[in-house]
Amino acid sequence: MKPIKFIAEVIGHRDLAPDIFEKTFRLVEPQELEYSAGNYTSVRVADGKQPPVFRAYTFASCGNDPTTFKFCVKLFRTDSGEEGRGSGYLKNLKIGARAEFFGPAGEGSFVPRGKNSEPLFLLGTGTGIAPLKAVAEKLTCEKSPRQIHLFFGVSYPEDIFYIAEFEKIKKSNPNFNFCVAVSRPPEGFAGITGRLPAVLEGSKIPKNVEALVCGSEASVAGIKNKLLELGVPPNRIDAEGFGEV
Ligand SMILES: Cc1cc2nc3c(=O)[nH]c(=O)nc-3n(C[C@H](O)[C@H](O)[C@H](O)COP(=O)(O)OP(=O)(O)OC[C@H]3O[C@@H](n4cnc5c(N)ncnc54)[C@H](O)[C@@H]3O)c2cc1C
Repeated sequence: MKPIKFIAEVIGHRDLAPDIFEKTFRLVEPQELEYSAGNYTSVRVADGKQPPVFRAYTFASCGNDPTTFKFCVKLFRTDSGEEGRGSGYLKNLKIGARAEFFGPAGEGSFVPRGKNSEPLFLLGTGTGIAPLKAVAEKLTCEKSPRQIHLFFGVSYPEDIFYIAEFEKIKKSNPNFNFCVAVSRPPEGFAGITGRLPAVLEGSKIPKNVEALVCGSEASVAGIKNKLLELGVPPNRIDAEGFGEV
């Protein structure tokens, strides 16, 4: 899989949560792209500002359909309230608009390596859940018999998204389950509460677990440290941060 320059056009936009959206693209030139769950690509931010910049986004789709791909993006703002160049550019691309990309990259990221008998933990916060959802979708399409436990950490209940997608995976894969933990719940919140490291503290971690972790640098570091503390060997953890997303 060699990175190439490619053009794609927007075929879908979905608001997922406050300041988090999903963009769906269809390949234009070439018409197909080989990529996998865990890969990312760079978009050329054609916003007319200088200097021109590229920004990296991870595929939120698993690559089974080489004619399309999705991103799950958090919109950033500067201190003065201006939209971030990459996230703002993507947000404002209308259906039918074309953009230029370079990728895919990140070969080897979030590729489950364990045996079918070894449980897989997918631990993501915010937009970091997107590549992990793609991993679960890929294994489900492949009819993998692995036990998959997905943990999604958010700050507030309104930050939760992709529940319909997780339910869909669960319906076709009896080996998949998921939980969502809210670290700043409102009073009377009935679901699971706390940051993912605290949630892990109370759960039984099998000795042969393999863990893929994605989210902001800070949350990834916290989750990784907890897994190590709970006895998961470092070579069984694949942890990647998106910056302070
Ligand atoms: C390999 C890789 C994969 C990535 N995948 C994704 C993805 O799937 N989805 C996604 O949403 N992002 C992803 N990112 C982050 C993305 O590349 C951009 O950094 C992000 O969209 C912000 O860029 P921007 O141009 O919108 O903001 P900028 O114009 O660069 O900055 C706007 C404002 O936001 C602040 N800011 C920028 N980045 C951060 C940050 N990380 N935390 C806190 N404040 C920040 C800046 O300080 C500035 O004030 C990924 C990054 C990498 C390296």
